[in-house]
Amino acid sequence: MYNSAPKIYQNRAADDLKAAIKERKQLLGGKLTILTHHYQRKEIVRLGDIVGDSYYLSRKAAEEKEARFIVFCGVHFMAEAARILCRDDQQVFLPNLYAGCPMADMSPMNAVTRAWGIVAGDGETVPISYMNSAAALKAFVGDHGGLICTSSNAQKAFEWAFARAKRVFFFPDENLGYNTAHGMGIPDNQIVTFDPAHSATPPEITDKTRIILWKGYCHVHTSFRPEHLVRMRERFPGVKIVVHPECIPEVVQSADAVGSTSFIVNFVDQQPAGSTIAIGTELNLISRLADDFPDKTVVELSGKGCPLCVNMYRTTLADLAYTLDFLGQTNEILVDEKIKNSARLSLERMLELD
Ligand code: SF4
Repeated sequence: MYNSAPKIYQNRAADDLKAAIKERKQLLGGKLTILTHHYQRKEIVRLGDIVGDSYYLSRKAAEEKEARFIVFCGVHFMAEAARILCRDDQQVFLPNLYAGCPMADMSPMNAVTRAWGIVAGDGETVPISYMNSAAALKAFVGDHGGLICTSSNAQKAFEWAFARAKRVFFFPDENLGYNTAHGMGIPDNQIVTFDPAHSATPPEITDKTRIILWKGYCHVHTSFRPEHLVRMRERFPGVKIVVHPECIPEVVQSADAVGSTSFIVNFVDQQPAGSTIAIGTELNLISRLADDFPDKTVVELSGKGCPLCVNMYRTTLADLAYTLDFLGQTNEILVDEKIKNSARLSLERMLELD
C-alpha cells in the first residue's frame, strides 16, 4: 500500500493516531476544515468535519470562509478542485499524494486537444467535463466555453450546453455521459463515442450528432453486471436496487433508482425500516450505510464484496495524522495560476447551475 506518511507514523496504533488527530483538530479549531469523500475509510469519515460527494465538497470548499487550512481526504482531482475554488490565502492538502483517479487519468491533454481538433472544432460543440478530471482539462473546458458537472448535476449541465450549441463533447466517463443522454431521451443514433486509442478512425459527426462521448470509465462501477441484479432479486424478493450512473447502461436501466453518492445515501435513508437495499457503488460507502442503518439490510450489489476504490482507500489514519502534524510543510496541492483561472471559470459555471 502506497502511503504518504513516514514509517514511524504507519507503525503507530490506530487509537494513538486517532487521539493525535483529535488533538490537532482541537488545537487548530476553526482554522482547519477536514473534507471527506463518501468513499473514504470509515475511520477517516468519522474524524472529518464534512462528508459528501465531490459536488457537495466542492461547494463547501468554495464557501469556506473561516478555515485557513483545508485538508481534503479524497483523490487528487478533488483536492485540485478545492484549490481552484478557494481563496489565495487558504491552503489545500491531500493526505495521501498517491491517491489519484484512474478515470481522470484517461483523458490526458494531448489526446483531448487532438480529439477536439478532429471532431469538435466547428464552433457547434460545447465541452463538458466530469468533475473527475485534471485541472488542465477543466481549464481547457473553461477556455472553450464549457463547464464541469458531477453525477448530481450532469443533466442540468447538458441542458446548459444545449442552450448554447448544437452538441456536447463529454469527458471522460462514457457511461455517465451515455446514461445522462439516455435519461434525457436522446436517441442512440445521435450519440457517438470518441476512442482516443483509435483516433485515426474517429466517429462520423453528422448534423444529427448531439453527444460525443469520451471512452473513459471507472473500473469500480463498471464491475457491476446485469446478472448481479437478477441474482439479487432472486435472493431478496422485494429488494430495492440503487446504482451510481458510472455503471454500464444495462445495469442503470434495470435498477430501481440511479443517482450520485449523495442520492444513494438519501435513498437508503428514505426506505422504510425492514427494507433490503442492494447498492451498486463503492464498498466503503456501502459498509458505512450498513452501519448507519441497522434497521435495514444494506448489501453490496455484486454480492462479491469487490467494488473497492483502492485510491480512495489509500488515505490512512497515519497519512492524516502526519499531514496535520506538519500542516503547511507537506502534501500541499498547488495549481498553476493560468490553469487555475481558466479551470475556475468552468467550475463556477457549474456552481451557478443551481
Ligand atoms: S470510484 Fe472510480 S471514479 Fe471514483 S475515484 Fe475511484 S476510480 Fe475514480
